[in-house]
Amino acid sequence: MFTVSVREHFDAAHYLKEYRGKCENLHGHRFEVVAALAAPGLNNIGLAFDFTELKTHLRQILARFDHVCLNDIPPFKSSTPSSENIALAVYEELKPRIPQPVARIAYIEVWESPTSCVRYEPE
Ligand SMILES: [Zn+2]
Repeated sequence: MFTVSVREHFDAAHYLKEYRGKCENLHGHRFEVVAALAAPGLNNIGLAFDFTELKTHLRQILARFDHVCLNDIPPFKSSTPSSENIALAVYEELKPRIPQPVARIAYIEVWESPTSCVRYEPE
């Protein structure tokens, strides 16, 4: 099994609803998002999955998160834009773009600082 991953980022504001602490106040992050695919085999030119294709998908998904207040846009109007929920949103939008059985999503990571990361791994 091969794991192919790419990293992109976006800059956004958010605040955590019903949280007690400084993160309840509006603040910003450079969110780094890693999308990793698991691919069982290689294509005829020796690639498990094309980095360029995966980066294009991830950039397109993250574009609407860039330079906004995440609390103001779907799906976070009805939830909280925690790194956990950002990872889930990216997973849900990326999943239909990945051709089965060529690859599946292994995990999505959201880094909200260089030392703080959430990883979502689908069952
Ligand atoms: Zn934050």
